Amino acid sequence: MIRLARREFLATLAAGGLLACAPNLLGSPESGVRLVVLGTAGGPTPKPNRFPAAYALVVGEDVYLIDAGNGVAQQLARAGIGINRVRHVFISHHHSDHDADAGAVALLAWATNPKLPLTLWGPPPMRAQMAAYRDYARFDIETRTADEGRPDFDASTRVMEFNEEGLLLDDGKVRVRCARNLHPPIHESYALRFETQDRSYVFSGDTTYSPSVVTLAKGADVLVHEIMYLPALDALIASEPNASTLREHLLASHSTPEQVGRVATEAGVGTLVLSHFVPGGPVVADETWLEAVRPHFSGRIIVAHDLMTLP
Ligand SMILES: [Zn+2]
Ligand SMILES: [Zn+2]
Repeated sequence: MIRLARREFLATLAAGGLLACAPNLLGSPESGVRLVVLGTAGGPTPKPNRFPAAYALVVGEDVYLIDAGNGVAQQLARAGIGINRVRHVFISHHHSDHDADAGAVALLAWATNPKLPLTLWGPPPMRAQMAAYRDYARFDIETRTADEGRPDFDASTRVMEFNEEGLLLDDGKVRVRCARNLHPPIHESYALRFETQDRSYVFSGDTTYSPSVVTLAKGADVLVHEIMYLPALDALIASEPNASTLREHLLASHSTPEQVGRVATEAGVGTLVLSHFVPGGPVVADETWLEAVRPHFSGRIIVAHDLMTLP
């Protein structure tokens, strides 16, 4: 009874958009699966209020990381998640707000008594990038291996490159599938779906409206979708000499609130989580994001904040 009442209370909060101000309220320790929002910003520029969009799916003791922009390791620490619990890192595409710290996660996890091995998944050129990073970190790896008796970095860090839609991983705890989204000019850009025993989660990646994201997200419990707000963007880019070109590019590769609501409605998801905000600075209020999507999706909508936990 108490649990039911709590859920109703949270649903009421969510309907009013107030959940955005109440991080961690939705923690669900009894299920053993939770989604921790590590960052919510879109774009390469560091922001004062948000880290780059990234998520930790915590399944029992294991952690599956979705994207790894700058600062993701620090955000794991702030969320109380040991980096040595990360077993798989999935990179949706190779824009820096999604992969700048992919190599750093491997290096820092390796230096923190990890459960081995750690696997990094990503589209091309994931393998070449990690080989280059391995070279970059050679001094630290060799020093710590000799000086601190660390395990063999190369044996404990795997790279799995993918360039097709379909099943990526089924380890008995989580089933991960990917579908190509629409993020021109990047062809190798993907949305990801995670099925756990309890719940299903879909991450749109960076995309404009994409039928294949709708298909991937069919019936999911939680859809985390990127979003951009054109009125605020227009104000920001008005002074740029290439404003109209920039606007066209953004419209072709990212999603408006109407498109985000349409994807959630067509897919029939339970909860829509808005994240990867463009613009990502503090200029757009939570209520504005919520009100922009509300006419297009009647289910629960959550405006994500860094370090928020969802069941
Ligand atoms: Zn992005
Ligand atoms: Zn991108």
